[in-house]
Amino acid sequence: MIPFRVGLGYDVHRLAEGRELWLGGVRIEHSTGLLGHSDADVLLHAVCDALLGAAALGDIGHHFPDTDMRWKGADSKGLLREVVRLIGEAGWQVGNVDCTLVMERPRIKPHIPAMRAVMAPLLGVAEDAVGIKATTNEKLGYVGREEGVCAHAVALIHKR
Ligand code: MG
Repeated sequence: MIPFRVGLGYDVHRLAEGRELWLGGVRIEHSTGLLGHSDADVLLHAVCDALLGAAALGDIGHHFPDTDMRWKGADSKGLLREVVRLIGEAGWQVGNVDCTLVMERPRIKPHIPAMRAVMAPLLGVAEDAVGIKATTNEKLGYVGREEGVCAHAVALIHKR
């Protein structure tokens, strides 16, 4: 058996007025925020799914169903911590993650160092094992119309 696995994560949340914008565990000042049962941190959700996928442990909706009031308004950093604990229980630890946010506004680049600093300790890795990129969708489609934000992630996990 090879001592490592890779996983893929993908998530979308709708943008709405009157919501806080949380991305990568960091609150970002903006006129709209993401709608969801939890804090709707689309980036952390994609990372959670990449990790769960790598360990073949299902997905975030299975572990934290939106019908469960425990997760209402939940801080997604807590969800990520729980995912890392779950894959740890299965004998895995995080090698690295890489992710891409797709959104038009605001500019994400200035916030990336803060996101990496928040995510690295949750994942139990050094900051240089947390890749975060952001791109616009060239004003195309739902992302281009600023109706929603999309995130992609990959993760490598290895046997402890
Ligand atoms: Mg989500």
